[in-house]
Amino acid sequence: MAIRKIVKLGDESLRKTCKPQETFSLRLWTLLKDMADTMYQAEGVGLAAPQVGILRRCVVIDISEDRSGLIELINPEIIDRSEETQCGREGCLSLPGRAGIVTRPMRVTVRAQDRHGKTFELTGEGLLARAICHELDHLDGVLYIDEMDREMTPEEIEADNQRQQRLAEERKKSGE
Ligand SMILES: [Zn+2]
Repeated sequence: MAIRKIVKLGDESLRKTCKPQETFSLRLWTLLKDMADTMYQAEGVGLAAPQVGILRRCVVIDISEDRSGLIELINPEIIDRSEETQCGREGCLSLPGRAGIVTRPMRVTVRAQDRHGKTFELTGEGLLARAICHELDHLDGVLYIDEMDREMTPEEIEADNQRQQRLAEERKKSGE
């Protein structure tokens, strides 16, 4: 397991346009594995290559609670987005301790390549749609703070964390 260093706001990697990934071999697979390990260790739901200083169009996402739903997107492009939107909390591993309210499409369809270069399409709703939009923005040097409706206060973040924790405990109990 190789944990890479997540760059923080102010690092110029976060503001660059990433280049397409053109080779699908061990070097890419190592990067994807490291990105997933790094995301899981940081308890994030997504990580883009520029966040570990690699300016390639590669993203990992896992919105599942048990961390079993890894999605790898290489050279992803959003090809369809719903008119219906969602408005909610968003944060970023490169901006620890902060969060904002961001409006995103409720549903997006992305076309991407897998780790072998094979093209596929994926439609995500709710949190997955939000994660896809957020991570793909990273590939063009865009951060959620550029698009947020407003920044959340530390008190709001704390209250929301507690609410999330309660919900998670309730889910756990009802699953027993
Ligand atoms: Zn981010």
